[in-house]
Amino acid sequence: MTKAIGYAAKHSYSRLKPLAFERQDPKPNEVEIDILYCGVCHSDIHQVKNEWSNTVYPCMPGHEIVGRVSRAGSAVTRHAVGDMVGVGCMVDSCHQCEPCHAGEENYCEGPNGFLATYNGPMVPASVAPGGNNIYGTDNTYGGYSNVIVVREDFVLKIPAALKPEVAAPILCAGVTTYSPMRHWGVKAGDHVGIVGFGGLGDMAAKIARAMGAEVTIFTRTKEKLAGAQRLGARGMLESDQEAFKALKASFDFILSTVPEKHDINPYVQLLKRDRTMAVVGAIEPLPPENNQERIMHRKSVAGSLIGGIAETQEVLDFCAEHGIGPDIQVIPIQEINDAYRRVEHGEVRFRYVIDMASLRLEEAA
Ligand SMILES: [Zn+2]
Ligand SMILES: [Zn+2]
Repeated sequence: MTKAIGYAAKHSYSRLKPLAFERQDPKPNEVEIDILYCGVCHSDIHQVKNEWSNTVYPCMPGHEIVGRVSRAGSAVTRHAVGDMVGVGCMVDSCHQCEPCHAGEENYCEGPNGFLATYNGPMVPASVAPGGNNIYGTDNTYGGYSNVIVVREDFVLKIPAALKPEVAAPILCAGVTTYSPMRHWGVKAGDHVGIVGFGGLGDMAAKIARAMGAEVTIFTRTKEKLAGAQRLGARGMLESDQEAFKALKASFDFILSTVPEKHDINPYVQLLKRDRTMAVVGAIEPLPPENNQERIMHRKSVAGSLIGGIAETQEVLDFCAEHGIGPDIQVIPIQEINDAYRRVEHGEVRFRYVIDMASLRLEEAA
């Protein structure tokens, strides 16, 4: 066992506070990672506040983890002590089901789904067939901490061309937007729409541009329009009905990154025949869709959840190759509760990344 420290919430109504705990020593196929940075994802906030009614407390979020390997189990071959590595949203899966065999561990159909980096198995024992839990744990502690131990095949390599703090959000925000664009075949010359211009939208627009697409970003916030232009994209206000009319049936793919309930019907109208709009931000029910619009032009509305391990490595390498990454602001962990408030109010276009060196203050205290 190793003594560890992190920031966790004890209840849905409490703020994140320091929590001392223990990590297991690495098993033969596991590595121990000294965490340097961890990105702040909107889903961390949903989870801490139990907004999906499935939070296990204490809740220690963080699934955009970058750090250095500090110990490696005896059977580890992919990573060595000192390597810069990353951990995204998953730390294990069933390894038996069809999606796992296909390298899509993010869609694991095992009895407990995949093992999330924090908050434990996606399907807890209480609702799993036979009450089973193949992972032997109900809760996992994520990257708002100084150390983590993970199976080597769920650990990503951070390319040298990426700064570690910039690489962190690619592990969730990056792959969440990259995977659907790959799946639905976004290519050079396509017209891609991005709905919502927060951390996910920023990453989505940069990836689509690097794929050679023409990009239009839809935002509620006038102040964010200039940011779209800086990315070489066209910025459009969600309230601009004239613009919507002019853009009807002109998009090859639309990605909604809005992290809450919203009306997607105006966007479905913007798709060309046979094309898809994927919603990755909102997990809650959406207002009713106009099926007539879909029937008349054989359009699809789809969802997508993060990406597999191989695809996560692919997006890290893609970002390194194209020299892109999220806009970030590095904060000490002591500012995490204020950062949550600003993200909830939609005030930030960049991704907060926690500098884990700031945890040393808590260790001393
Ligand atoms: Zn996330
Ligand atoms: Zn599986």
